[in-house]
Amino acid sequence: MAEIISGKVLAARIKAQAAQQAAKLREKGISVRLAVIIVGENPASKAYVRGKAKDCAECGILSDVLELPQSITESELLGKIEQLNQDDRVHGILVQLPLPPQIREQSVINAILPQKDVDGFTDINTGRLISGEECFLPCTPAGCIEMLKSTGMQIAGKDAVVIGRSNIVGKPAALMLCAENATVTLCHSHTENLKEKCAAADILIAAVGKAGFVTGDMIKPGAVVIDVGINRTADGTLCGDVVFDEAEPKASYITPVPGGVGLMTRAMLMMNTVRAARNQAQGRGDGEKR
Ligand code: NDP
Repeated sequence: MAEIISGKVLAARIKAQAAQQAAKLREKGISVRLAVIIVGENPASKAYVRGKAKDCAECGILSDVLELPQSITESELLGKIEQLNQDDRVHGILVQLPLPPQIREQSVINAILPQKDVDGFTDINTGRLISGEECFLPCTPAGCIEMLKSTGMQIAGKDAVVIGRSNIVGKPAALMLCAENATVTLCHSHTENLKEKCAAADILIAAVGKAGFVTGDMIKPGAVVIDVGINRTADGTLCGDVVFDEAEPKASYITPVPGGVGLMTRAMLMMNTVRAARNQAQGRGDGEKR
């Protein structure tokens, strides 16, 4: 039977650290501040943004939510970002995705100053991640790595399989595992023999977005399984990509959904925001040494 890696416990610990660091900065007269831009009325996006504002409040971080209309033009949105870039009171800027079709997402993301890019999505931060330089790590894969490390396992030398190659989860997760000296296989919808690849993995990260995708026969005995997926079943229940009941008896460690990676993503955002404020206070324009 696998041990459960509790996102609840780990995220609470990380948020407590963020709160402590935010308090230290406050003593120096710096009030850590995150600006979150949301465009339109997408209910899921609104819920995510509410969650972020709540996390900020818990950590003693100020948050401004800018609610902009669905009809906004790209240049108007870029103008808002420029204002936030210029505002020294704002340490972190986050644009909630997705954006409406008239707006090019990556152009908007890239308008955020790299030192305020607490999501770690700008091309500059991605490039730094690839070349092993200081950067802001994207929150979800960073949370996955924290969860792996919390088990005390040695990542170096292990065979890791990541399923999913999105820019926000799969690709950076693969890069971070590589930086931890794992041997990484990055799988996607064109991958052949996916089941066999997964079944040989010491570390399996599932970021597909399909309920029931990872079945018990895809788990190597003793593997550590990190389930990034957030899906809803027909009856509305929240679940991951992994069939938990099948994977849990075979894995050594496994993350639950809910109560797993999602909470870590939120906690890592708080950490990145505090770090951004600290770096800006020190006059540094970068994120964190990996
Ligand atoms: P995307 O839809 O951007 O990417 C999904 C990936 O899965 C793609 O690379 C796709 O391959 C791959 N894929 C789809 N079908 C298959 C298949 N049959 N076999 C192998 N690979 C397949 O999703 P995201 O990365 O944004 O999110 C993934 C999941 O993680 C979602 O459930 C999302 O809700 C969740 N999520 C959770 C977060 C959290 O905090 N816990 C944060 C962000 C996302 P291809 O590239 O070839 O199309």
